[in-house]
Amino acid sequence: MSIYTGPVFDMARTQFHRIADHLAIPADERDRLLYPKRAIAVSCPIHRDDGTTAVFQGYRVQHHLTLGPTKGGTRFAPSVDIGEVGALAVWMSWKCALAGLPYGGAKGGVTVNPHTLSRRELEALSRRYMQEMIPFVGPHTDVMAPDMGTNEQVMAWFMDTYSMYQGQTVMEIVTGKPVAVGGTLGRKEATGRGVAYLVERAMGRLGRALSGATAVIQGFGNVGAITAASLDERGVRLIGVSDHTACYADPRGLDVPALLRHVSERGALAGFSTELASDPAELLAMPCDILVPAAMERVIDAGMAQRIDCRVLAEAANGPTTPDADEVLDLRKDIFVLPDILCNAGGVIVSYFEWVQDLQQFFWDEAEVNDRLYRVLQRAFAAVLDRATRDGVSHRTAAMAIGVAKVRDAKISRGLFP
Ligand code: GLU
Repeated sequence: MSIYTGPVFDMARTQFHRIADHLAIPADERDRLLYPKRAIAVSCPIHRDDGTTAVFQGYRVQHHLTLGPTKGGTRFAPSVDIGEVGALAVWMSWKCALAGLPYGGAKGGVTVNPHTLSRRELEALSRRYMQEMIPFVGPHTDVMAPDMGTNEQVMAWFMDTYSMYQGQTVMEIVTGKPVAVGGTLGRKEATGRGVAYLVERAMGRLGRALSGATAVIQGFGNVGAITAASLDERGVRLIGVSDHTACYADPRGLDVPALLRHVSERGALAGFSTELASDPAELLAMPCDILVPAAMERVIDAGMAQRIDCRVLAEAANGPTTPDADEVLDLRKDIFVLPDILCNAGGVIVSYFEWVQDLQQFFWDEAEVNDRLYRVLQRAFAAVLDRATRDGVSHRTAAMAIGVAKVRDAKISRGLFP
């Protein structure tokens, strides 16, 4: 029926139909809302350092163009396929709509383990991927950003490649760039800062202070690391952490500044400690106040949903919780869920600020960026909680219902062409 196969797209589809049932969206409207407008697949050949040629598969899925350009990250990871980036593009649409951004969702990526590439090979692949995408992207068509396995440097290469082909500098073609080439202050920190801000609001609703609370974070890339730093600043004790190379636990609290220094020097958590090493399979089940999955999709399935032992589940990753797990969480009334499309929206919100600043060539200071970020998050948080109470539904259903309804209203207003 479609090219969007695999467990991650199945998950996005199941979630969407639950929301469509809740909103009583007629059957004949659903495919138009769910299925992406466009999908692009490209082969990206590069010269390896050993003189051979290697070809990597790249994708970009643009979910809907009803509200403006599409927006979303580019992922360099072995898991990347059309189904995965398709699901991530769909989630970006609901996320942007929930935050009130004038974008549809997109996501792209290359099927590659970036840790196996030298810096020169990574640059060659980044530039070739963007070069292959030039006919399909643009500041008013589709605006890329970082995601798993990409960073500010990759965005700078994307921007440079696009600009060289245009014959002029086009900063607004990607967000998440270094500040020196049109990036905004506060973008690199935005997702993690947003997670910590929302965790504070959630704990406030539970009548709990953040200071002295305990946290466990799965994933120590940009999002996990900045979340750790932001929670640490608020007096939270990090008792468990992992990335793809190591897992550590300490009930007395891990030294977050030391972890951050280690990762900035060595690139990953491995080698930080031998005494504190812990079983990564048990990390998510550690008793804590704040549990932050900040890595991959589908890490909390129905079995793990029974076992997690936290007060706030802060979904910094995209799609960490499966629909089966949602059914378990709906029955467990003891966990306050910050659903992914709310919890990690800080990244794309500040990406929007970056795009606006680039278009206007008028740059803001960091206090202004953060102040505006928190205002947008506070509005979305309040809207989700109000909707959940009003409709008697979970926070995820409320968040997704707001996002889906906004996209649907826009499609109905614009009509079906011709
Ligand atoms: N990749 C991030 C996300 O999944 C950021 C997207 C963006 O800034 O456009 O939300």
